[in-house]
Amino acid sequence: HIEQPSVLYMDGVSVSFDGFKALNSLSMCIEPGEMRAIIGPNGAGKTTMMDVITGKTRPDSGTILFNDQYDLTQHDEAEVANLGIGRKFQKPSVIESLTVFENLELSLQGGRSVWQALTHKLGKQQHQQLEEILTLIDLQDKQTLQAGSLSHGQKQWLEIGMLLGQKPQLLLIDEPAAGMTDEETMKTAELFRNLAQHHSLMVVEHDMDFIDALDCRVTVLHEGSVLAEGSLASVKANDKVIEVYLGR
Ligand code: ADP
Repeated sequence: HIEQPSVLYMDGVSVSFDGFKALNSLSMCIEPGEMRAIIGPNGAGKTTMMDVITGKTRPDSGTILFNDQYDLTQHDEAEVANLGIGRKFQKPSVIESLTVFENLELSLQGGRSVWQALTHKLGKQQHQQLEEILTLIDLQDKQTLQAGSLSHGQKQWLEIGMLLGQKPQLLLIDEPAAGMTDEETMKTAELFRNLAQHHSLMVVEHDMDFIDALDCRVTVLHEGSVLAEGSLASVKANDKVIEVYLGR
């Protein structure tokens, strides 16, 4: 029974691969407008969790609700995206030969071919949305550059900007800080805090300085279920968490 409204509600979610439980009765809630960091050792189930939320993997059992309304276990990846859940994988997938502006233009015209999108002028509202996204990801002065000429961090920001074109309510982001310089990492944390004003975010990350800068609630996964949840300071001081990270 759900008492508080949630963007994402998972209860008793299990997934097995050949008898091995990648998720073992996982339960977790994300509140509207919340940013949540997900940590856990390799093999803890972080990727599998993202996969079951986005319809890539169907759980064996359990409940996953979006906005207390949509049963995500009954939708495929395209349908989940259309419901308002955007997923960013670790590797950026911007089109390197197109400019920053053109990449964003394409993302705002989901469904059209590249040629159609680039020859079709954006409407006034879409143009305004594109400008807002450019400002948010701080690439205004790079908009005419080819995406291939951007730094790794700038490509990641562009790709996040491209996700925003679909106006997702919930963003799932996989290891955004991986491969970034310290400066880019801190700038990404600032971008995410800004994003959290209008979106709910779930961020899988290993970089503790980055998580500290996000200043949000942290969930620790281990062996496919939640080991601890709370502020970064509280989970770092949790004996079970210390054992999992250091005791082997
Ligand atoms: P994490 O992202 O936290 O590193 P994963 O969700 O990728 O963890 O994996 C959890 C466990 O499930 C791992 O032991 C992994 O080997 C296993 N696993 C994940 N996907 C598959 C699959 N498609 N087939 C078999 N085993 C898998």
